[in-house]
Amino acid sequence: MPELPEVETTRRGVAPHVIGRRIARLTVYDPRLRWPVPADLSERVKGRTIDAIDRRSKYLLFRLGADTLLMHFGMTGSLRVYHDPPPRRAHDHVDIELSDGALLRYHDPRRFGAMLWLPAAKESHALLADLGPEPFDAAFDAGYLWKTLRKRTAAIKLALMDSRVVVGVGNIYASEALFRAKIRPTTPANKVSKVRLAKLVAAVREVLDDAITHGGSTLRDYVDVGGRPGAAQFRHFVYGREGKPCRVCRTPIKMRRQGARASFYCPACQR
Ligand SMILES: [Zn+2]
Repeated sequence: MPELPEVETTRRGVAPHVIGRRIARLTVYDPRLRWPVPADLSERVKGRTIDAIDRRSKYLLFRLGADTLLMHFGMTGSLRVYHDPPPRRAHDHVDIELSDGALLRYHDPRRFGAMLWLPAAKESHALLADLGPEPFDAAFDAGYLWKTLRKRTAAIKLALMDSRVVVGVGNIYASEALFRAKIRPTTPANKVSKVRLAKLVAAVREVLDDAITHGGSTLRDYVDVGGRPGAAQFRHFVYGREGKPCRVCRTPIKMRRQGARASFYCPACQR
């Protein structure tokens, strides 16, 4: 599933090829994504210039003047730029042709992604309304986390994965960040001290930053090349390593279910 680092990598990969270009034509081959692609989307974007691409959580926001084209990749969505487009493959659902001949192509086998229109008049879309701060924002700090979590008895890992607390920290990144901060994933959120929350904030940024940097090494995958890029190449300390020795202390890594997800931790390093 594309997580924040993959979406940010896509944004950085695609941006230089589309910013400042005009949309010549948007063609929807299959509107049946998580929500139907609006029937009038082609008409609305035609002739508009892409001024910027922003990211909020895992949403890509194409800024067309005051209006926004919102894109989400769901479970299996991806976006590529082609300068010499190959024939359409199965699951290529939307093509956006740019004035200079480049093509942005949205591919999504499972169709849980989204492509929606946010007119300027509608300041905040329901999808974006309840989102917590971005992990790299100054607003996401130990003081904020402490205030937000002080009455929450849920496990710290589940709190960290709650997009109302902070956006973009998926299962892998939550496990890895808690390892780096030496916090056991099952610790009640309100029992983690401010000092440790400060470590956790730093750890969250580190793991996401690492993943974006690794994604960056596959940036070319977003242009003219098939195949899925991976932030996954980044070296996990705990995730998926049940029974293997901790990379720090050699204690076997443990796995435990939390909610519907697997949590991995080192019983010696994480207290
Ligand atoms: Zn360890």
